[in-house]
Amino acid sequence: MSERWSDRVARVLAPNPSPLTLEGTNTFVVADPGAAAVVVIDPGPEDEAHAQAVVGACAGREVALVLLTHTHVDHAEGARAFAGRVGAPLAAMAEGWSTAGAPDLAAGSPVAAGGLELRPLPTPGHAADHCCFELAAERAVFTGDHVLGRGSTVVEWPGGDMADYLASLELLRDRRPERLYPGHGPLVSDAVARVEGYLAHRRDREAQVLAALATGDCTPAEVVARVYAEVDPALHPAAELSVRAHLVKLVREGRVATGDGERFTPARPRRPTRRRGRAGTSPRRTRPPGGGE
Ligand SMILES: [Zn+2]
Repeated sequence: MSERWSDRVARVLAPNPSPLTLEGTNTFVVADPGAAAVVVIDPGPEDEAHAQAVVGACAGREVALVLLTHTHVDHAEGARAFAGRVGAPLAAMAEGWSTAGAPDLAAGSPVAAGGLELRPLPTPGHAADHCCFELAAERAVFTGDHVLGRGSTVVEWPGGDMADYLASLELLRDRRPERLYPGHGPLVSDAVARVEGYLAHRRDREAQVLAALATGDCTPAEVVARVYAEVDPALHPAAELSVRAHLVKLVREGRVATGDGERFTPARPRRPTRRRGRAGTSPRRTRPPGGGE
């Protein structure tokens, strides 16, 4: 069943609802009105009825390109088969997914298809290979799992990276979009406010994680039990991945210490003493792959 979200964008909801995917994955069929071809974003899970519904939403127009925001199963499982079925190239940031004729998304140059331009916005964080797509004609962005239509997303340690995620949220905010087409949940019409809200939420969670450690919680599970006490326990395993992503970032920044990666304590404040001989060296940091602290 396809639903029109704008003159250029139709949404086909995949039949895979869950606490993490909300009502299911949003597959988008995108084209300028009057164009003879369309772009399909995130074909979704392997499901024949869903694939047929997406073909139906293309309404006889050629599929010029299939794009993936990232390669988690709920977005990408059915992508290769769908691209093969409609004879379109498949493009993704993830190594080994793009097929012949697909544009290089990492370059960030606008992709012309379906009578419009989509600019890839590499946005690592939720997953290392995550990419949003900006539809300049609408000041809109297809956000995959970077920003959802409702609630917050999971930064899945170890594939996700919290420092990258925050930098990617700032990148999205700085594009000043007016609307977001998320991978799950409804259209977001207060785009910048939503992204600001996500940034504030992550800063709050980080402060809560630090406070939990200061109270004596040591393991990610203990931190989750305290910080996510108000959240459905069914989501606690996913929350633990986000907490681990926060902890990895804090360890990198020298604000949290760990011996084995399972037990964490607040780092002792570093004093500017010169006892160890290596005067003036700052705490060691490993820069995240995408930079941005
Ligand atoms: Zn998803």
